[in-house]
Amino acid sequence: MHATGFALICLLLPAWAHAAPADTVYRNGYIYTVDAQDSVQQALAVRDGRIVYVGDNAGAQAHTGGQTRVIDLQGRMVMPGLVDGHMHPQSGGSRLLNCSLDYMPLTVPQFQARIQACLDKEKNASPKRWLRVVNWFQQGMLPDGVDMSSAALDSLKTSRPIVVRSSFGHSALLNSRAMALAGVTRRTPDPEGGKIARDAAGKATGILEDAAQDMVSKFMPVLTPKENLAASTAALDAMRKQGITTFLDAYTDPETLTAFSQLQKQGKLTARAHFAVLIDPKDAISGKAFKELRQLAKQFDQGATRIEPSMQVRHAKLFMDGVIAAPALTGAMLAPYYTNQGTPQQPHWAPGPSKGPDSYFTPALLRSTLSRLAKAHVDPHIHVDGDGAVRDTLNALQALRATPEGKDVRPALAHDEIVDPADFPRFKQLDATAVLSFQWAKPAPDTVGALKEYMGKERYAIVEPQSLLLDAGARIAYGSDWPVDPLDMWFALKVGVTRTAAKDAGPEYAGRLGDAPGMPRAAVLRAITMNAAYTLRQEKEVGSLEVGKLADLIVLDRNFMEVPAEDIANTRVLQTVVGGKIVYGLTSW
Ligand SMILES: [Zn+2]
Repeated sequence: MHATGFALICLLLPAWAHAAPADTVYRNGYIYTVDAQDSVQQALAVRDGRIVYVGDNAGAQAHTGGQTRVIDLQGRMVMPGLVDGHMHPQSGGSRLLNCSLDYMPLTVPQFQARIQACLDKEKNASPKRWLRVVNWFQQGMLPDGVDMSSAALDSLKTSRPIVVRSSFGHSALLNSRAMALAGVTRRTPDPEGGKIARDAAGKATGILEDAAQDMVSKFMPVLTPKENLAASTAALDAMRKQGITTFLDAYTDPETLTAFSQLQKQGKLTARAHFAVLIDPKDAISGKAFKELRQLAKQFDQGATRIEPSMQVRHAKLFMDGVIAAPALTGAMLAPYYTNQGTPQQPHWAPGPSKGPDSYFTPALLRSTLSRLAKAHVDPHIHVDGDGAVRDTLNALQALRATPEGKDVRPALAHDEIVDPADFPRFKQLDATAVLSFQWAKPAPDTVGALKEYMGKERYAIVEPQSLLLDAGARIAYGSDWPVDPLDMWFALKVGVTRTAAKDAGPEYAGRLGDAPGMPRAAVLRAITMNAAYTLRQEKEVGSLEVGKLADLIVLDRNFMEVPAEDIANTRVLQTVVGGKIVYGLTSW
């Protein structure tokens, strides 16, 4: 080309046109960007793992060269990859490899048949080897109120010890052989923080609650490094299928970090991995917890975010209480739990003697711990379930915000199942993000039954205050808390919009949970993208589809914004892209 002619063309073309063509161009789509205006665009171009163009088809043409892969979306929805702001990938992954009851409501014979099938699969296992059964939906056993005891397991054809773990993690059922090995008899006292369930005659039934479960943990085979690797691999596989491209492990350990770093080195880490290290009150006082956190961060944090997924260890996990679910009732409350002060036949539910435990950190210890973390540039991720735990934490944050080190902290308050209305506006005032599991906000055996009675009418009306917090200006982020529930992001997001159960849940679970409405769809999507990214300090890299950001995106089989709300649960991810690389799914459809 003639030199002056070339210069002339250069003057006429916008600056980006000089750059090399894109690696991939998506055209003819419904590209939901989660930018500041939640704008919807038609086309998007990716080069070297980053987004270089978002706009209309015509504009994308300039990015299309001979080598560019052009994907015709045929109107399909594209959105940012999902950011799961609170999950437990290692236990989730390892449960996928265990004998699982799949969170199903089961009759006793169904429960027995499924466990027998697991035993039959391991016919050659030593009679000494414990069978570990997971994902038991204890509150969902049928018919309602059926009593579970060792007897249900003792009739199975095996001499192996069996332990069945509830999906909530707050109780376990043992067969008689396991009870004998664990040394639990009628004379065994309840351990601190736990309970051995007993029948009317005082005999242990086989159910161990909360800390009493520790009596069997020493018999559980420790996962080998190979099993740990298999668990992380299974977790990443499940995440890719769901469209998760970034996650926070909300309570990590060295074994998990080791497994993920091995996968990272092998190029098999397909999601951006963030890890929170536990700071417990005792070790916060001694200082041991901070030392451990520093060591793990030094060993496993891989520095600034890059195009290929890597690992960051920049969060601390604190527990302020347990759970408000019965029978645990370990959520720290401002006012007492209700108890039945009538008879089983003629119940009379009224405030009882217990508000649950005091918050696990005293106010002074929480303030000093948050301050110490802030000085180390570590963000706190705090488990708060009851309104008392929420209040105590907000009070500590208020004190923290008044200090120089407290200005830049990004605190996340996870769960928030009950929040006193007086505290709703404080989330915004203190810039604290509520990290919520939307799927809990539906009528279910653990909400419409026991929770209503233990909470009393007024508190029950505002359980799972997702839209109430949103309306008060709080930043809402999503965290699945997998494996407390199955990893089903699209069902969870549906519940975020509708607060209704699955269609096949049964007539007793029809309708919405409580009085509050669901969240608007745009707020639900922002929660699981930009807002969760914010809690991980990743909002400049991921969470929206904008020029310069990492190309972490998913293609959906239906339009989240336009399908009937109940249909959101059926969404399937057709393609998951991380840093411009397709890690799951198809290239055409
Ligand atoms: Zn959790």
